[in-house]
Amino acid sequence: MNQNPGHQDAASAQNLSGEPKPRTPPHPAYPNVLHGQPALVTGANSGIGRAVALGLAAAGADVAINYISHPEAADDVAHKIEAMGRRAMTIKADVSREDDVAAMFARAIAQFGTLHIAITNAGLQRDASFDEMTLEQWNTVIGVNLTGQFLCAREAVREFKRRGVVDSVSVAAGKIICMSSVHQAIPWAGHVNYAASKGGVMLFMKSMAQELAPSRIRVNGIAPGAIRTPINTAAWNTPEAYDKLMKLVPYDRIGEPDDIARAAVWLASDSADYVVGTTLFVDGGMTLYPGFATGG
Ligand code: NAD
Repeated sequence: MNQNPGHQDAASAQNLSGEPKPRTPPHPAYPNVLHGQPALVTGANSGIGRAVALGLAAAGADVAINYISHPEAADDVAHKIEAMGRRAMTIKADVSREDDVAAMFARAIAQFGTLHIAITNAGLQRDASFDEMTLEQWNTVIGVNLTGQFLCAREAVREFKRRGVVDSVSVAAGKIICMSSVHQAIPWAGHVNYAASKGGVMLFMKSMAQELAPSRIRVNGIAPGAIRTPINTAAWNTPEAYDKLMKLVPYDRIGEPDDIARAAVWLASDSADYVVGTTLFVDGGMTLYPGFATGG
């Protein structure tokens, strides 16, 4: 993880302008940029969520690991985090259920004292051609990918507002990172429920960011491209599938969960303190219209 080289310059510039001492972040000293900032990550026992949970812990955070199935995989993440000298807890909860989410946040806050970071990552696909898609497939995807993010972010914001800024920990009262997808921008035939959920996440995230910035709560999104996780195994687990996928990726490699984890650590840290309401695309250029690379 790189430190933010621009930080000192920005701070000096503000000082030179003669303004009152700015509330700039302390010099980021990875691996401790998130020290004292407990985090909750949903869907943290697999794929991207797992890597993000481990990345946050490596950067100094204690982590609550949400899962809905495979408790042994959640335990494994917890053990790895504890081996780094951080606190970890596992919490079973369905993010699409209001009572589950409220209980999950209450447990995490009781255990850690507070939360500073929420990564609303849990997501799934229920693919079908449009006229074959059932209402259940539609509702399941919207319920987890969009409503789930709303329910989790709402609980996080309630805690961030209750506590406010603790200067010694972070210059923000809290950080929310919504796991979106390149499909917040790229239409996706055969996956209209998924694309609709991620398009929804984009404006959900931006509207939250606008409303909550005055409370010094930073809300941002990450839009992964093709990342090597169980959600999309069929897209990369044979040489033929991988080659086909690479036609969509100018950077010519699949993304790894750690690519997303590094982005999440930076976005959650005070190094990203002026980053508000934006989506960070981590996609190897997938959104660069690769079909036009040779002139269209
Ligand atoms: P994954 O299947 O490995 O992980 C998804 C996680 O969400 C799992 O832990 C799963 O148990 C959890 N989950 C599903 N329903 C849940 C529920 N109701 N309550 C709590 N947890 C639930 O897939 P992943 O690729 O790691 O996906 C993580 C996020 O990244 C998703 O939001 C996905 O849409 C997004 N994403 C992934 C890719 C990719 O290429 N892998 C690309 C773009 C966006």
